Amino acid sequence: MRVIVVGGGLAGLTAALRAAQLGARVTVLEKGDRLGGSFLYSSGYVWSYKDLKTFRREARGGDPVLQRLVLNGLEDSLNWLESLGVPILARETGNPLTFGARLHPKRTIETIANRFLDSGGRIVRDAAFEGLVEGRPESGIKEVRATVSGDRRTESADAVILASGGFAANAELVRRHIIQGPGRMRLRAHPWSTGDGFLAALAAGALASAGLDEFYGRNLPAPPAGFSPHQFVEVSQLYGRYAVAVNRNGERYADEAADWSETALTQATARQPGLRAWYVLDAVGLRRRVRERTVQEMVETARLAGGTVLRADSLKELAGTLEQRGIPGTNVLRALSEYNAAVVGGRVESLSPPRSEPATPIEVSPFVAVEVAPAITHTIGGLAVDERCQVLRRMDGGPIPGLYAAGVEAGGVSVGGYTSGLASALVFGKVAAEAAVRCSQASVERLGLRRER
Ligand SMILES: Cc1cc2nc3c(=O)[nH]c(=O)nc-3n(C[C@H](O)[C@H](O)[C@H](O)COP(=O)(O)OP(=O)(O)OC[C@H]3O[C@@H](n4cnc5c(N)ncnc54)[C@H](O)[C@@H]3O)c2cc1C
Repeated sequence: MRVIVVGGGLAGLTAALRAAQLGARVTVLEKGDRLGGSFLYSSGYVWSYKDLKTFRREARGGDPVLQRLVLNGLEDSLNWLESLGVPILARETGNPLTFGARLHPKRTIETIANRFLDSGGRIVRDAAFEGLVEGRPESGIKEVRATVSGDRRTESADAVILASGGFAANAELVRRHIIQGPGRMRLRAHPWSTGDGFLAALAAGALASAGLDEFYGRNLPAPPAGFSPHQFVEVSQLYGRYAVAVNRNGERYADEAADWSETALTQATARQPGLRAWYVLDAVGLRRRVRERTVQEMVETARLAGGTVLRADSLKELAGTLEQRGIPGTNVLRALSEYNAAVVGGRVESLSPPRSEPATPIEVSPFVAVEVAPAITHTIGGLAVDERCQVLRRMDGGPIPGLYAAGVEAGGVSVGGYTSGLASALVFGKVAAEAAVRCSQASVERLGLRRER
């Protein structure tokens, strides 16, 4: 059987190698000039929440079927990677809510790609998938349209696995679904995931998952800060929980500590005027630690990247400096004094918007304000899939024969929170390949039996 995999990130390469191991002839189409997708910029933590209850609590809008798939499939998938010779750097995540492992992104991609090529697989770079040509519905045979090094081509396959990483790099789709207003969000990922797989599947009648208005990303130092993709992790400003976040109107706009990954805060920032915010901190906040760094060190990375970091000896002075930059200082002072009074009075949940713990007063000099802007790593909504990663039909919710999605392309796992994108890539890539090969073998046998009769 022939399988075409769209995308050479972790999801696509995992699917490709697994399908090849099961005897399929597999071609990977990769739009970019390199393999590995966003994985190469990540710190390589592949994880799942420890149990379904925690999974449901941390991403309550997500599809429980897919969450269970990640939870139950991760350990086996990691063992499979290890059996291929992929080095596992650590079998822990440093987060008590989760289990998983740390991988070396470059070595993992090289090992999977080499194993795939050794098993006779084909990888075509500079090959941009453009659309699906519907085949015979009963057998699910598909044709795929792509532009390869500038030439338009059509290739046929028994199954197509879409792993092209969602639509984070499509500014128009991000504006329409996520920002829901004017503005443009910075990309915290590679530039090739412009929604080609997602749009092609929708055009072929696919159903979109929940969560199209959500994304996983981070607040980064706002322009004029500049940095390379390999600094995406380093420059992330992951300390909203120790700050008070105000928008360009000088108003608090979200619960800064709503979740451990600060996904809700980042998403809320994407809907503020100009897609900008200021994190206001005091000396106590600057001394806090988030993972292996202090807040002060994260602020320093923002400053070194050319970001705007204001310092003052009093809150009044800080508000005055913000006022000079167009942020109403009286509003900032009001937001901070309401916040401080609520913390001292033990009633932070009655603030509007409410504040979760940790909540400590902003009162010890020196004070700092860091300008941040949200950046999108990947989309959370995508194609609706079942437990075999088969893409579902809009018309009746049944599977579209021969069409699968994995990784970011398979939407709806993290709705309402954040879960590991690398785990969805690894587990769904493997599941999609196994389902594609087995389903195609079953349909060949069925057709063969019919012919014999
Ligand atoms: C800075 C950073 C840190 C991160 N840290 C973590 C972490 O610690 N843990 C975690 O779980 N996740 C993390 N992530 C997220 C994780 O990297 C992604 O969720 C994961 O790599 C997604 O894999 P994917 O294969 O689904 O998509 P991608 O990696 O986006 O790969 C999609 C591939 O498809 C290709 N493509 C796109 N369109 C086409 C087309 N038309 N035709 C052919 N090919 C196409 C792209 O070029 C790309 O190679 C991080 C991401 C970043 C950027």
